[in-house]
Amino acid sequence: MPSSSTGSNQINTPDQHGFFGAYGGRFVPPQLEAVIKEVEEAYLSIRQDQSFWDEYQRLLTHYVGRPSPLWHARNLSTKLGGAQIYLKREDLNHTGAHKINHCIGEVLLAKRMGKKRVIAETGAGQHGVALATAAALLGLECEIHMGAIDVAKQHPNVIRMKLLGCKVIEVTQGGACLKDAVDSAFTDFVTNHRDTFFAIGSVVGPHPYPMMVQDFQSVVGREARAQIQEQAGRLPDYLVACVGGGSNAMGLFTAFLPDTEVSIIGVEPAGKSDQRGEHAATLSFGTPGMLHGMKTYLLQDDGGEPWPVHSIASGLDYPGVGPIHAFLKDSKRAEYVAVGDAETLAAFRQLSEVEGIIPALESSHAVAYAAKLAPRLSADKIILVNLSGRGDKDIDYVAEVMGI
Ligand SMILES: *Cc1c(COP(=O)(O)O)cnc(C)c1O
Repeated sequence: MPSSSTGSNQINTPDQHGFFGAYGGRFVPPQLEAVIKEVEEAYLSIRQDQSFWDEYQRLLTHYVGRPSPLWHARNLSTKLGGAQIYLKREDLNHTGAHKINHCIGEVLLAKRMGKKRVIAETGAGQHGVALATAAALLGLECEIHMGAIDVAKQHPNVIRMKLLGCKVIEVTQGGACLKDAVDSAFTDFVTNHRDTFFAIGSVVGPHPYPMMVQDFQSVVGREARAQIQEQAGRLPDYLVACVGGGSNAMGLFTAFLPDTEVSIIGVEPAGKSDQRGEHAATLSFGTPGMLHGMKTYLLQDDGGEPWPVHSIASGLDYPGVGPIHAFLKDSKRAEYVAVGDAETLAAFRQLSEVEGIIPALESSHAVAYAAKLAPRLSADKIILVNLSGRGDKDIDYVAEVMGI
């Protein structure tokens, strides 16, 4: 088990059926139940196996490049004239985002289960690239389901996946976005489960995926907690992370959940407006429901059909959210806010110019919220932002919308 994970009475661990309070669980058709039960049993067994975590940590250290730095963004903090902003540099990981953390874990698990092939959905293409990378490293076949709209928008990541020896399946059903790619990957999993492992890309889906992905990501917050104590001599006042499915956010938040003096803020994409179809701010505007095998907050119509969603960051355009975030919202341990496309672009530009760091559009949502919060606080306060990924994948798109 990752070194600071603890028993099931802890706020960060679901009960034995995968519930975080009223949310989570495993709501899947019978043919999928047996297949996912196998994943659960395998994961619960390796969760207790120190040799698994030793191998995992070895790969994080020597292949991914962990620990990632914690950077005190002094220029940005001075410019904003308030709290001190620190950035957890997940953008510096191999493949440029936090997703490699859980992909290495999932592919290691697949290998231990004797699977030959890993499959997944992807939105921005980051999960696909990270999974294809881990599969190449560990010698498994890889197939990635991706919405046709995202394939067009994230062309460089599609090429990367192909170079890594992965097959990319272009999904044209429904809205041709992330949700449709998830549906398509589930279908593949049911059909090919004997030799295939489904590596979900966030803290979403049926139990045990939310717990498992959170465990794999929790290294981010364990590092950040030690780093901020070393650099600032204390814990931060605020944690800020963007929330799509919620994996980078839980990566940062998990180690701090017991520290009630630390305020926790998740930032969702408010998109173009609060109209249906123009944002993906699930916890801000959604209601509890059922999607992809879990009970959680959803953007949905009266019949439970998910809404079309939009964000300038394709990694955030998902009509659901990880069940632990639903639980943290209702229990008020975390607060969820929303930031729109325009503020996100401004933050993308500001961080690039002031710190020399080009952030992913996803991460720019968190930076934008920190930039609003900082001036309202005194200079001795600390905001720790998870910089979940780098913006190289977004530069063509940004150049186009900003007319550069
Ligand atoms: C995929 C992605 C996200 C959103 O996914 P979460 O599971 O919410 O973390 C955020 N940032 C980057 C850079 C991503 O690639």
